[in-house]
Amino acid sequence: MIVVKVGGSEGIDLEAFCRDLANCIKSGVDIVLVHGGSHDTNVLSAKLGKPPRFVTSLSGVESRYTDRETLAIFTMVYVGKVNKYIVEQLQKQGVNAVGLSGIDGRLLEGSRKEFIKVVEDGKRKVLRDDYTGKVEKVNVHLVKLLRDNGYTPVITPPAISYESEAINVDGDRAAAVLAAALGAEKLIILSNVPGLLRDVNDASSLVTEIRRDQIERYADFAKGRMKKKVMGAAEALAEGVREVVFADARGENAVSRALEGKGTVIR
Ligand code: ADP
Repeated sequence: MIVVKVGGSEGIDLEAFCRDLANCIKSGVDIVLVHGGSHDTNVLSAKLGKPPRFVTSLSGVESRYTDRETLAIFTMVYVGKVNKYIVEQLQKQGVNAVGLSGIDGRLLEGSRKEFIKVVEDGKRKVLRDDYTGKVEKVNVHLVKLLRDNGYTPVITPPAISYESEAINVDGDRAAAVLAAALGAEKLIILSNVPGLLRDVNDASSLVTEIRRDQIERYADFAKGRMKKKVMGAAEALAEGVREVVFADARGENAVSRALEGKGTVIR
């Protein structure tokens, strides 16, 4: 079984992606899909007069500040718009997809951060009222129920906290925890870049292969949001997933190309 994560950044044609994904599933590849929705969330937030606010943790990791209002917009886009669009497209291609957020059936559960320490405009701040956290537990039984009965799960943040609050979690790391919990042999992370690049401005600087014990060395190339993908890859490999692939979600045959190993293969 393979966990595929498709990002929500600009430039990804989800219709083409779903067409290829459906072909792979119909040819017998057993897939659980996880997706994002960051770009659409930024667009809707701005339209609703609440522009997105990104904060940087003291260790330099960027995340979306998610107060209660942002959480509602986040859920509208990830669950309401993107999840249902993907399910619609897969259904159109003859795949019996079921869309679930991490809240449903406590599919993705974890701890909510009580507060976050960030640096903003050069100043250190403590932010409360932030609904973010980290996935630690997966309802494997629920996923199994669906898969055993011929349904393809399409999974998206938010997750649920132990106190039953919806929480914004990083999709790449959620996919990594999910892949490990389900005993997936492979995790494929698709985004709007060809894979891990030595230089983010040079598409020809693709790193094609990384030995799992050398992942730390390559982590320095990853800037911004790519950092979480590398962290997720390391977590998945440490928990028993044999291979992680970073590949391009853009254009035709994105899933097939990644299955052939085009991109950055870590094993
Ligand atoms: P998604 O929303 O598809 O999950 P993100 O936007 O979170 O994807 O992360 C992918 C982005 O990471 C790329 O668009 C790129 O700008 C950035 N990035 C930073 N460093 C690297 C790198 N070394 N290689 C590839 N992408 C990188």
